[in-house]
Amino acid sequence: MMNSLTATRLAEFLSLSSKGFEEIRKYAETTTLQNVERKVYFRGVIEFSNACEKDCYYCGIRNSNRIKRYCMQKKEIIETALKAFKQGYGSIVLQSGELTSKKNFDFMLNTVSSVKKKSRELDAKDNGIGITLSLGELSKNRLQELFEAGAHRYLLRIETSNKKLYKQLHPCNGKHSFNKRIKCLQNLKNIGFQVGTGTMIGLPEQGVEDLAKDLLFFKEHDFDMFGIGPYIIHKDTPVGKQYEKEWQKKKERIFELSLRMISLLRILVNDANIASTTALQAMHSQGRELGLLYGANIVMPNITPQKYRAQYLLYEGKPCIEENAEDCMNCLSARIKNIGRTPVLQEWGDSLHYFNRTGEKR
Ligand code: SAH
Repeated sequence: MMNSLTATRLAEFLSLSSKGFEEIRKYAETTTLQNVERKVYFRGVIEFSNACEKDCYYCGIRNSNRIKRYCMQKKEIIETALKAFKQGYGSIVLQSGELTSKKNFDFMLNTVSSVKKKSRELDAKDNGIGITLSLGELSKNRLQELFEAGAHRYLLRIETSNKKLYKQLHPCNGKHSFNKRIKCLQNLKNIGFQVGTGTMIGLPEQGVEDLAKDLLFFKEHDFDMFGIGPYIIHKDTPVGKQYEKEWQKKKERIFELSLRMISLLRILVNDANIASTTALQAMHSQGRELGLLYGANIVMPNITPQKYRAQYLLYEGKPCIEENAEDCMNCLSARIKNIGRTPVLQEWGDSLHYFNRTGEKR
């Protein structure tokens, strides 16, 4: 099956009827269980700042939006991380908008090494909590320093593998460049990070052919982790305004396509970590479970302190704005067990693909 997965073929699969796709979903589910077993790993996401120098046309926290900006203090981030660690979260993701100042970088570096050090003190095995970063594009030297400070995974979405579409979604200035992003992804790999990328599904003027090419891009560039999810409207953004009427009609299909992308990705990259993203949950009350049933093996509950959550609004209708990390953990664990999978606590849950790709020992 693998060799015949051309862009044309993948686009055909994305266009099948629901019934027609079920066979592929089942195949993806079997592939998941064979490669990453029933295990589902948790990453507690801490959205520690919404300050951002970038101006992505689809994003609610883009620089031009006059929203209240916040940045959690180092002490607060450490407390949040350690609390999650004690609750059983084996890994966290530190995510924010993009700031390029030296001051901000030093703050991040400091925070990463403190979280690592303090979590190791709480851990008999001395590993501490697994740290994934999602801070946008940074120079190679800075990424190297963050790696040495104890972060070992990095998420940076390509957003779309179609260069023309990328240009339509981002302002035409030095701050937003497709090639720079690719370069950054390569740097991350060379440094030794487990590298994750992803795209948004359902962007204006994006067709199934583009999505098929996204899948081939993922395979070709040999990434370890993926977070793909539906585009969700945010009305106070250029894309949101342009897309408002159409999106209502399209959103069901966008949701369905997002699930199908997960299945096809699992079939293409068997051993990767694939997230069942928050955006799926935002569109459907069972979104996260469905993501797992279509081939995902990672869940990423939001563990940001409640008072900040409403300010990190990338898109509308973000779920679990009210819940705390412990509620989230209990509710999700039950949901995961319900569909016959096993929530795994206290483990980093690294990407198998990384070890197969590098030959490094687990
Ligand atoms: N600034 C960092 C991380 C924060 S944004 C970075 O750019 O990497 C994290 C992800 O949110 C983005 O990569 C994008 O894919 C997603 N996102 C932003 N706006 C969105 C929207 N309207 N709908 C769905 N996903 C969105």
